[in-house]
Amino acid sequence: MNWRIGELIYWRIRELVNCKKSLKVISFDVDGTLVDLEYNDLIWFKEIPELVAKKKKISFEKSLKFVHEEYTKLGEHNLNWYDINYWISYFHIEISPNKIFEKYETQVQIYPEVIPLLEELKKNFILIVITAMPREFLVPKMKKLEKYFKFSFSALSDFKELKNSEIYSKISKALNVYPEQILHIGDHWEFDYLAAQKAGMNAIYLDRSNTKKGNFVVNNLTEIKRVIRDKYNN
Ligand SMILES: [Mg+2]
Repeated sequence: MNWRIGELIYWRIRELVNCKKSLKVISFDVDGTLVDLEYNDLIWFKEIPELVAKKKKISFEKSLKFVHEEYTKLGEHNLNWYDINYWISYFHIEISPNKIFEKYETQVQIYPEVIPLLEELKKNFILIVITAMPREFLVPKMKKLEKYFKFSFSALSDFKELKNSEIYSKISKALNVYPEQILHIGDHWEFDYLAAQKAGMNAIYLDRSNTKKGNFVVNNLTEIKRVIRDKYNN
């Protein structure tokens, strides 16, 4: 009889371990991962400098240089860097952010492999997005994609922070799954790959420029199917 109990306990433990390990949620970054950066670039490097040029009565080239320098001075580790309202008031320009978002909405480009991949993944996994950008930036980009995603998180709007390991931990708690059951994919080495990994998630670094190598580096999103197959045998 004893060996049976032992076997049963072993089976239960194995079940628990498997359960903890099984992949449930696939999480995507948005900019540079699902949609290209053109839309953001049009806002930061065309619309804003155009408005600043008009306001200051300087040439577009001069304005672009000035605006670019101001962005760099602040840097991507400062929350305001991502906040269009901050820059609108910083440059003393008068426009509603929504007007800008709508103006360029038709320019949102989804990478070609995204929709077929999501169609496939949605059958077996819960799909979510985690972006650094404020939620208002997410709206135009997700119009054609939102039907695939159960939840979307904006580090800035929802947590008032950059994408860091605490945010990823909070998200896995909010979803009520172990971090190990989440696979996060994104194109920023620090904010996507390292931060998600530090929180205990599985992370894939998307390197569309093809410069980094490794098991957990992919050059386009279709390759994540291989990673999922190899790691989870499903
Ligand atoms: Mg990105």
